[in-house]
Amino acid sequence: MTLKSQIEQAARELGFSAFGVTDAEYDPVGHSKHQNWLSHGYQADMTYLERGPRQRFDPRVHLSSAQSVIVVAMNYYSKPNDDPQKGYISIYARGRNYHFVLQEKLKLLCDKIRELSGENASFKTYVDSGALAEKPLAVRAGLGFIGKNAVLIIPKTKSDTKRHPLGSFHFLGVIITDLRLEPDTQAIGTCGQCRKCIEACPTDAIVGDGVIDAAKCISYQTTQNKSDIPDGLAPLMGNMIFGCDICQTVCPYNSHIEETPEPAFKSLPELLNPDIQSLIQMDEAEFNSRFSQNSIGEFRFSMFKRNIEKVLKNIRNKFSGPLK
Ligand code: SF4
Ligand code: SF4
Repeated sequence: MTLKSQIEQAARELGFSAFGVTDAEYDPVGHSKHQNWLSHGYQADMTYLERGPRQRFDPRVHLSSAQSVIVVAMNYYSKPNDDPQKGYISIYARGRNYHFVLQEKLKLLCDKIRELSGENASFKTYVDSGALAEKPLAVRAGLGFIGKNAVLIIPKTKSDTKRHPLGSFHFLGVIITDLRLEPDTQAIGTCGQCRKCIEACPTDAIVGDGVIDAAKCISYQTTQNKSDIPDGLAPLMGNMIFGCDICQTVCPYNSHIEETPEPAFKSLPELLNPDIQSLIQMDEAEFNSRFSQNSIGEFRFSMFKRNIEKVLKNIRNKFSGPLK
């Protein structure tokens, strides 16, 4: 077994469902696409996306001796909320905070790689952090392709092409290292003629192939926008308190996705079909204590409260009788 195969096996034993390697070269194509996206103002007020443009696409800005980049993905899917009279919390935010979970696993993987290689290799680990563009790295590492909904889609595993696609409900983890590992080739898969996500998006936020106008996106509005939600958009949130999964849920690549085997990503019971009346009574102290280990706990209580008020109004407008 090569060192790379042993590392992949160790990653799978830690629960990662996809694994790939790319070289640590600068990615001018990804950089140029990002600059183009910014030039249209599609980042809305996420000004942090304008900072450190080169470092997002150059692993050697993070580790000057870098030779390879390992990219892994972990399934977080579980059954979506299905009661329209209750609130909707995006699937990714209903379990334990994924930054904690994946960073712990990446650290274990780095320890294992040191043991397997017998070298005192250097590593830098990233989970949706550190101004590093992870999705283009995942594409280069052969994990999948970017769908029209701008998320990474894992079509099939290279080792088992008879399997169903793994889909897009995955968190990504990245390890930049000075170890030299054989790079993978790009994965096979495209959206083809499909436009389901574009047609299903309630706010027309998908403005091009893989291009999202954040200001129109419910996910941005409910988790990133610190100001008020525009009057024209609030009714389109429906019951979505935090995030939006519509453009992933309709995607045919997710039609056979299995529930995550990772216990940390199982939904907190209070976040699956949450009762709006009880959430609206929550104060900041209760919010902090209930969600400190959860992705929602990373966000401002005032935004959470604002979202609940919008959703309560939407649900009252839609269901004229008393709420369940
Ligand atoms: S997350 Fe929701 S609002 Fe945003 S692009 Fe997808 S479907 Fe549209
Ligand atoms: S719904 Fe269709 S167009 Fe959208 S990402 Fe999935 S395959 Fe691509």
